Amino acid sequence: MNPSRRPLICGNWKMNHGGPSGVELAMAVARLAKAYPRVDLAVAPPFTALAACAHECEAANVAVAAQDLHPGASGAFTGEVSGPMLRDAGCTWVIVGHSERRQRFGDTDAWVAEKAAAALSHGLSPIVCVGEKLAEREAGTTLTVVKVQVDAVVDVLAGATQPVAIAYEPVWAIGTGKNATPADAEEVHAAIRGWLHDRSPGLAARTRILYGGSLKGDNAPGLLGCANVDGGLIGGASLDAVAFGAIAQAAQAIAAG
Ligand code: PEP
Repeated sequence: MNPSRRPLICGNWKMNHGGPSGVELAMAVARLAKAYPRVDLAVAPPFTALAACAHECEAANVAVAAQDLHPGASGAFTGEVSGPMLRDAGCTWVIVGHSERRQRFGDTDAWVAEKAAAALSHGLSPIVCVGEKLAEREAGTTLTVVKVQVDAVVDVLAGATQPVAIAYEPVWAIGTGKNATPADAEEVHAAIRGWLHDRSPGLAARTRILYGGSLKGDNAPGLLGCANVDGGLIGGASLDAVAFGAIAQAAQAIAAG
Protein backbone atom coordinates (compact mmCIF):
# COMPACT_ATOMS: atom_id res chain seq x y z
CA MET A 1 0.00 0.00 0.00
CA ASN A 2 1.03 3.55 -0.58
CA PRO A 3 0.08 6.14 2.05
CA SER A 4 -1.11 8.51 -0.68
CA ARG A 5 -4.07 6.22 -1.45
CA ARG A 6 -6.69 5.16 1.10
CA PRO A 7 -7.26 1.40 0.96
CA LEU A 8 -10.59 0.29 -0.50
CA ILE A 9 -12.03 -3.00 0.76
CA CYS A 10 -15.11 -3.98 -1.25
CA GLY A 11 -17.26 -7.06 -0.71
CA ASN A 12 -18.85 -8.56 -3.83
CA TRP A 13 -21.82 -10.55 -2.56
CA LYS A 14 -22.61 -11.90 -6.04
CA MET A 15 -26.03 -13.64 -6.13
CA ASN A 16 -26.33 -13.88 -2.34
CA HIS A 17 -28.13 -11.90 0.37
CA GLY A 18 -30.58 -10.14 -1.91
CA GLY A 19 -33.25 -9.68 0.76
CA PRO A 20 -33.50 -9.34 4.56
CA SER A 21 -30.25 -11.25 5.15
CA GLY A 22 -28.49 -8.63 3.00
CA VAL A 23 -29.84 -5.84 5.16
CA GLU A 24 -28.56 -7.68 8.25
CA LEU A 25 -25.13 -8.12 6.68
CA ALA A 26 -25.01 -4.45 5.65
CA MET A 27 -25.91 -3.47 9.23
CA ALA A 28 -23.13 -5.68 10.57
CA VAL A 29 -20.58 -4.15 8.17
CA ALA A 30 -21.78 -0.67 9.10
CA ARG A 31 -21.23 -1.52 12.79
CA LEU A 32 -17.69 -2.70 12.02
CA ALA A 33 -16.73 0.37 10.03
CA LYS A 34 -15.95 2.53 13.07
CA ALA A 35 -13.01 0.27 13.89
CA TYR A 36 -11.34 0.94 10.52
CA PRO A 37 -11.11 4.72 10.10
CA ARG A 38 -8.20 4.49 7.64
CA VAL A 39 -10.05 2.17 5.30
CA ASP A 40 -12.80 2.84 2.73
CA LEU A 41 -15.32 0.01 3.03
CA ALA A 42 -17.86 -0.89 0.36
CA VAL A 43 -20.40 -3.64 -0.15
CA ALA A 44 -21.84 -4.82 -3.47
CA PRO A 45 -25.20 -6.52 -2.83
CA PRO A 46 -27.51 -7.83 -5.55
CA PHE A 47 -29.70 -5.19 -7.26
CA THR A 48 -32.70 -6.16 -5.12
CA ALA A 49 -30.96 -5.16 -1.89
CA LEU A 50 -29.07 -2.04 -3.04
CA ALA A 51 -31.45 0.62 -1.77
CA ALA A 52 -32.10 -1.08 1.58
CA CYS A 53 -28.38 -1.67 2.15
CA ALA A 54 -27.53 1.91 1.16
CA HIS A 55 -30.00 3.08 3.79
CA GLU A 56 -28.16 1.05 6.47
CA CYS A 57 -24.68 2.02 5.27
CA GLU A 58 -25.03 5.74 4.74
CA ALA A 59 -24.42 6.95 8.29
CA ALA A 60 -21.42 4.64 8.71
CA ASN A 61 -19.76 5.90 5.52
CA VAL A 62 -19.78 2.44 4.00
CA ALA A 63 -20.17 2.81 0.25
CA VAL A 64 -22.56 0.70 -1.80
CA ALA A 65 -21.53 -0.70 -5.15
CA ALA A 66 -23.60 -2.41 -7.82
CA GLN A 67 -22.24 -5.57 -9.42
CA ASP A 68 -22.91 -4.43 -13.00
CA LEU A 69 -24.87 -1.90 -15.05
CA HIS A 70 -26.23 -1.41 -18.55
CA PRO A 71 -24.51 1.44 -20.40
CA GLY A 72 -27.79 3.05 -21.47
CA ALA A 73 -29.63 5.51 -19.26
CA SER A 74 -33.10 4.07 -19.93
CA GLY A 75 -35.06 2.25 -22.60
CA ALA A 76 -36.19 -1.12 -23.87
CA PHE A 77 -33.57 -3.36 -22.22
CA THR A 78 -35.60 -5.95 -20.34
CA GLY A 79 -33.90 -7.10 -17.16
CA GLU A 80 -31.18 -4.46 -17.20
CA VAL A 81 -30.38 -1.72 -14.68
CA SER A 82 -28.91 1.66 -15.63
CA GLY A 83 -26.48 4.06 -13.98
CA PRO A 84 -29.14 6.62 -13.00
CA MET A 85 -31.16 3.82 -11.36
CA LEU A 86 -28.10 2.77 -9.38
CA ARG A 87 -27.52 6.35 -8.28
CA ASP A 88 -31.16 6.55 -7.17
CA ALA A 89 -30.65 3.36 -5.17
CA GLY A 90 -27.74 4.96 -3.31
CA CYS A 91 -24.74 3.46 -5.14
CA THR A 92 -21.50 5.35 -5.60
CA TRP A 93 -19.45 2.49 -7.11
CA VAL A 94 -20.17 -0.16 -9.73
CA ILE A 95 -18.17 -3.26 -10.60
CA VAL A 96 -17.68 -3.81 -14.34
CA GLY A 97 -15.98 -6.63 -16.23
CA HIS A 98 -16.03 -9.21 -13.44
CA SER A 99 -14.64 -12.46 -14.84
CA GLU A 100 -17.96 -14.21 -14.21
CA ARG A 101 -19.62 -11.69 -16.53
CA ARG A 102 -16.82 -11.90 -19.09
CA GLN A 103 -16.94 -15.71 -19.11
CA ARG A 104 -20.65 -16.44 -18.67
CA PHE A 105 -22.42 -13.38 -20.02
CA GLY A 106 -20.17 -12.45 -22.94
CA ASP A 107 -18.88 -9.11 -21.65
CA THR A 108 -16.09 -8.09 -24.05
CA ASP A 109 -13.33 -5.54 -23.43
CA ALA A 110 -15.24 -3.02 -25.58
CA TRP A 111 -18.49 -3.62 -23.67
CA VAL A 112 -16.67 -3.30 -20.34
CA ALA A 113 -15.19 0.02 -21.50
CA GLU A 114 -18.66 1.21 -22.53
CA LYS A 115 -20.00 0.28 -19.11
CA ALA A 116 -17.13 2.06 -17.34
CA ALA A 117 -17.72 5.19 -19.45
CA ALA A 118 -21.45 5.06 -18.73
CA ALA A 119 -20.80 4.65 -15.02
CA LEU A 120 -18.63 7.75 -14.99
CA SER A 121 -21.08 9.76 -17.05
CA HIS A 122 -23.80 8.96 -14.50
CA GLY A 123 -21.64 9.91 -11.52
CA LEU A 124 -20.64 6.39 -10.47
CA SER A 125 -17.09 5.23 -9.84
CA PRO A 126 -16.16 2.05 -11.73
CA ILE A 127 -14.19 -0.87 -10.34
CA VAL A 128 -12.90 -2.46 -13.54
CA CYS A 129 -11.97 -6.13 -13.13
CA VAL A 130 -9.13 -7.65 -15.12
CA GLY A 131 -7.25 -10.94 -14.81
CA GLU A 132 -5.84 -13.95 -16.58
CA LYS A 133 -7.16 -17.52 -16.75
CA LEU A 134 -5.11 -20.45 -15.48
CA ALA A 135 -4.04 -21.54 -18.99
CA GLU A 136 -2.87 -18.00 -19.73
CA ARG A 137 -0.80 -17.89 -16.53
CA GLU A 138 0.68 -21.31 -17.30
CA ALA A 139 1.51 -20.15 -20.83
CA GLY A 140 3.35 -17.14 -19.42
CA THR A 141 0.98 -14.63 -21.04
CA THR A 142 -0.45 -13.04 -17.88
CA LEU A 143 0.90 -9.55 -18.48
CA THR A 144 -0.05 -9.60 -22.17
CA VAL A 145 -3.63 -10.62 -21.37
CA VAL A 146 -4.05 -8.12 -18.55
CA LYS A 147 -2.52 -5.29 -20.62
CA VAL A 148 -5.14 -5.78 -23.34
CA GLN A 149 -7.90 -5.54 -20.72
CA VAL A 150 -6.37 -2.43 -19.13
CA ASP A 151 -5.70 -0.76 -22.50
CA ALA A 152 -9.41 -1.10 -23.32
CA VAL A 153 -10.38 1.18 -20.41
CA VAL A 154 -7.35 3.40 -19.87
CA ASP A 155 -8.68 6.35 -21.90
CA VAL A 156 -12.04 6.13 -20.13
CA LEU A 157 -10.39 6.11 -16.70
CA ALA A 158 -8.00 8.92 -17.67
CA GLY A 159 -10.98 11.18 -18.34
CA ALA A 160 -12.61 10.53 -14.95
CA THR A 161 -13.06 13.25 -12.39
CA GLN A 162 -14.31 10.89 -9.68
CA PRO A 163 -12.44 8.00 -7.99
CA VAL A 164 -11.74 4.92 -10.12
CA ALA A 165 -10.35 1.48 -9.32
CA ILE A 166 -9.01 -1.52 -11.17
CA ALA A 167 -9.34 -4.95 -9.55
CA TYR A 168 -6.69 -7.48 -10.56
CA GLU A 169 -8.45 -10.81 -10.11
CA PRO A 170 -6.63 -13.85 -11.46
CA VAL A 171 -9.53 -15.99 -12.68
CA TRP A 172 -7.96 -19.17 -11.28
CA ALA A 173 -7.98 -17.62 -7.80
CA ILE A 174 -11.63 -16.56 -7.70
CA GLY A 175 -13.66 -18.72 -5.36
CA THR A 176 -11.06 -21.50 -5.47
CA GLY A 177 -9.23 -20.97 -2.19
CA LYS A 178 -6.01 -20.52 -4.20
CA ASN A 179 -4.74 -16.96 -3.90
CA ALA A 180 -1.91 -15.40 -5.87
CA THR A 181 1.30 -15.08 -3.89
CA PRO A 182 2.11 -11.52 -2.82
CA ALA A 183 5.04 -11.55 -5.27
CA ASP A 184 2.86 -12.67 -8.20
CA ALA A 185 0.17 -10.12 -7.35
CA GLU A 186 2.68 -7.31 -6.94
CA GLU A 187 4.25 -8.10 -10.32
CA VAL A 188 0.89 -7.60 -12.06
CA HIS A 189 -0.14 -4.62 -9.93
CA ALA A 190 3.18 -2.86 -10.61
CA ALA A 191 2.76 -3.53 -14.33
CA ILE A 192 -0.77 -2.07 -14.27
CA ARG A 193 0.53 0.99 -12.40
CA GLY A 194 3.21 1.37 -15.07
CA TRP A 195 0.68 1.21 -17.95
CA LEU A 196 -1.49 3.81 -16.22
CA HIS A 197 1.62 5.97 -15.73
CA ASP A 198 2.42 5.71 -19.44
CA ARG A 199 -1.04 7.19 -20.13
CA SER A 200 -0.90 9.80 -17.34
CA PRO A 201 1.18 10.03 -14.15
CA GLY A 202 -1.85 11.48 -12.35
CA LEU A 203 -3.99 8.53 -13.37
CA ALA A 204 -1.38 6.12 -12.00
CA ALA A 205 -1.15 8.05 -8.75
CA ARG A 206 -4.89 8.20 -8.05
CA THR A 207 -6.16 4.84 -9.32
CA ARG A 208 -6.63 2.24 -6.60
CA ILE A 209 -5.55 -1.18 -7.81
CA LEU A 210 -7.33 -3.86 -5.77
CA TYR A 211 -6.42 -7.52 -5.48
CA GLY A 212 -9.20 -10.11 -5.71
CA GLY A 213 -9.07 -13.89 -5.55
CA SER A 214 -9.59 -15.91 -2.35
CA LEU A 215 -8.56 -12.97 -0.18
CA LYS A 216 -9.09 -13.85 3.49
CA GLY A 217 -8.00 -12.59 6.91
CA ASP A 218 -4.96 -14.87 6.96
CA ASN A 219 -3.52 -13.97 3.55
CA ALA A 220 -4.61 -10.31 3.62
CA PRO A 221 -1.55 -8.94 5.50
CA GLY A 222 0.83 -10.29 2.85
CA LEU A 223 -1.24 -9.31 -0.18
CA LEU A 224 -2.40 -5.92 1.07
CA GLY A 225 1.14 -5.17 2.23
CA CYS A 226 2.42 -5.08 -1.37
CA ALA A 227 3.49 -1.64 -2.57
CA ASN A 228 1.00 -1.45 -5.44
CA VAL A 229 -1.96 -3.21 -3.80
CA ASP A 230 -4.47 -0.58 -2.65
CA GLY A 231 -7.15 -2.84 -1.23
CA GLY A 232 -9.24 -5.84 -2.13
CA LEU A 233 -12.33 -7.05 -3.95
CA ILE A 234 -13.66 -9.93 -1.90
CA GLY A 235 -16.23 -12.56 -2.80
CA GLY A 236 -16.60 -15.50 -0.40
CA ALA A 237 -15.15 -13.84 2.69
CA SER A 238 -17.44 -10.83 2.27
CA LEU A 239 -20.52 -12.95 2.99
CA ASP A 240 -19.66 -13.01 6.67
CA ALA A 241 -19.10 -9.74 8.54
CA VAL A 242 -16.42 -11.21 10.83
CA ALA A 243 -14.41 -12.63 7.92
CA PHE A 244 -14.81 -9.37 5.98
CA GLY A 245 -13.78 -7.42 9.08
CA ALA A 246 -10.58 -9.45 9.39
CA ILE A 247 -9.53 -8.21 5.93
CA ALA A 248 -10.48 -4.64 6.80
CA GLN A 249 -8.44 -5.04 10.00
CA ALA A 250 -5.37 -6.06 7.98
CA ALA A 251 -5.82 -3.01 5.72
CA GLN A 252 -6.25 -0.76 8.77
CA ALA A 253 -3.05 -2.10 10.37
CA ILE A 254 -1.02 -1.56 7.20
CA ALA A 255 -2.45 1.91 6.59
CA ALA A 256 -1.71 2.87 10.20
CA GLY A 257 1.90 1.81 9.63
C1 PEP B 1 -14.67 -12.13 -6.66
O1 PEP B 1 -15.59 -12.78 -7.10
O2 PEP B 1 -14.51 -10.95 -7.04
C2 PEP B 1 -13.76 -12.77 -5.72
C3 PEP B 1 -12.58 -12.23 -5.55
O3 PEP B 1 -14.21 -13.90 -5.11
P1 PEP B 1 -13.45 -14.75 -3.94
O4 PEP B 1 -12.98 -13.77 -2.92
O5 PEP B 1 -14.49 -15.67 -3.42
O6 PEP B 1 -12.32 -15.46 -4.61
